[in-house]
Amino acid sequence: MDETRDLPERIPKEAREMAGFISLVIDESTTRFGVSVIDTGIRCFRKKCFGTINSEFLFETDEIYWSCTKCQNAGTISGWQGSRWDNS
Ligand SMILES: [Zn+2]
Repeated sequence: MDETRDLPERIPKEAREMAGFISLVIDESTTRFGVSVIDTGIRCFRKKCFGTINSEFLFETDEIYWSCTKCQNAGTISGWQGSRWDNS
């Protein structure tokens, strides 16, 4: 990953916010690598949702699974190893 370049301007705002969210989840999760379910403290990005994001490592697929504590918002992140937010 190129650390000197920002995300291109042509990426829509939502996608950039999503990229920011994903990087936060990786950052918080890998700081607490080894914890089974991580309370990242990151606010859910859904409008009017006041939940926070929990995450866990899926070791079989090397993905990070994240989910909101209050709504159905959830997803997985792959390719996080070796990214600039990887603290593990
Ligand atoms: Zn939510």
